[in-house]
Amino acid sequence: MKIALLLTILLAFIALSFACDEFNPNISTIGECTATQKVSWKPTDNAQVLTPADLDPQELGMHEERMAYVLAIAKQQNKKFVASIYHQNGTLMCLGVNTGKPNIISHGEIVAINNCTALHGITSFTNYTLYTSGEPCAMCSAALLWADFKTIVWGTFNSDLLCKICMSNIPMDSSYIFGRYYGLRASPPRVIGGVLRTEADAWFGSYCSKPTSIYYIKPQCVCTNTTSPLKIDQTRYSSWFENGKTVSQFGGIITNTGSVTVTNPTFTSSPLRPNSIWGLAVDETKNTWALQWYPVIQPGQTFSFGYIIDGEDQIAFQPTA
Ligand SMILES: [Zn+2]
Repeated sequence: MKIALLLTILLAFIALSFACDEFNPNISTIGECTATQKVSWKPTDNAQVLTPADLDPQELGMHEERMAYVLAIAKQQNKKFVASIYHQNGTLMCLGVNTGKPNIISHGEIVAINNCTALHGITSFTNYTLYTSGEPCAMCSAALLWADFKTIVWGTFNSDLLCKICMSNIPMDSSYIFGRYYGLRASPPRVIGGVLRTEADAWFGSYCSKPTSIYYIKPQCVCTNTTSPLKIDQTRYSSWFENGKTVSQFGGIITNTGSVTVTNPTFTSSPLRPNSIWGLAVDETKNTWALQWYPVIQPGQTFSFGYIIDGEDQIAFQPTA
């Protein structure tokens, strides 16, 4: 009886092995590329990262409230990286704090995921949103994609953490990983960066002057000037002789041509100096100029200034980004 059973199983295996083509990666053509072709990844764009300006006030308000809670926990525990996970019905499920324990890869996001599994038995996060004080690093971005999070929200950007805060990090935007979602799932996560960015940046502070800190690293970044939305038009109103020399009066109008309010703009200038000026104030040590009055220019609004200078040449002002 036993032998008959074994014989049947053996026959079934032999039949199966004849029925299926044996897969040989050197000669078989199964999938997208033929066996003789070289295989590589298709060019892929990074995932879109939404910012607060892209959200309606109601959604932004919700994210800000939850981010404020994450930052409050961070301050309470005096830890930089804190994450939280919410169910899509609005329930806060778990928190994760990067305390460096039990080991160095216990980042806030990883700790939060592990807490959710331990507390609630959650193994996949399709219906969940993750918040984190700092943008997910390369390791955590991949973990969040594997975990299948629907939405991911952060305060401070990786590029700022490394390049401006001098905090050690893998130099990669999480959108690089999130844009490659198609290897795991049908649609990308909804990615929102910079929620309560100013508060989060302030909480991270700066390690640039603390080279003995365990977080410190000397950044290796590319710095490019951004284009200022401010346009400066100048007009020479008049010139006259005074004490044997030519003197001119100029008027200037600064226009915000962008869609974002500009606060505390500064300007560099040619070395020419006026005899008197109104509307702008110079910082001689930095060779920069600031607005003398309420230093806020809304989109479409203008700010006027004027000066009197020896000669007929205007001072060439340039906005500093
Ligand atoms: Zn991480």
